[in-house]
Amino acid sequence: MRTRTVDNMGKYTGQILEEIYTPEEIEARVIELAKQISDEYAGKVPILIGVLNGSVFFLSDLAKHLDIDCEMDFIKVSSYHSGTQSSGTVRLLKDISCIVTDRDVIIVEDIIDTGLTARFLKHRILENEPSSLAFASLLLKPECLKLEFKAEYVGFEVADRFLVGYGLDLDQKFRNLPSIWAFPADMNV
Ligand code: 5GP
Repeated sequence: MRTRTVDNMGKYTGQILEEIYTPEEIEARVIELAKQISDEYAGKVPILIGVLNGSVFFLSDLAKHLDIDCEMDFIKVSSYHSGTQSSGTVRLLKDISCIVTDRDVIIVEDIIDTGLTARFLKHRILENEPSSLAFASLLLKPECLKLEFKAEYVGFEVADRFLVGYGLDLDQKFRNLPSIWAFPADMNV
């Protein structure tokens, strides 16, 4: 397994990250999800709503592999203000600009951890009465879910470790890494 050492990042300096998904593994799984979505939405034009900033790579790769037409929009919320602990509250920072009423909507997330963000987004979109609503999340931490929540499309179920890369950041760093990397399970924040 490949590792990399965090440098020049204050208290995280010296932490060893482990590569848990390579770019090839991510691409293969994204292609599978895109195929499944293309089959299930055949004849429809879903709106993919990417949750900024973390979902940008997943959303663009997923969209490129769809065999159906789709539209795209973005929403931005904040639940993690810094560091790795969830604050528990979700704030809307940027709303969608499209009209979702009577449309098929797929919310595209980087990762579902506690599920609080997903619940907030679900209520926000359902207020506007879409024809259907589904969630596609590249990653899901089942043991961290604090509420009953089921995403229709999940790339990988992962253990409770803090992940970075492929859109996921720590204090805005590491987003651009092509792989997904995990901090040690016992990392102190
Ligand atoms: P939830 O509301 O499900 O607890 O968290 C959702 C958001 O928390 C994600 O969209 C992401 O921004 C952040 N998050 C949760 N787990 C991780 C993680 O392991 N790594 C990173 N970088 N962000 C995470």
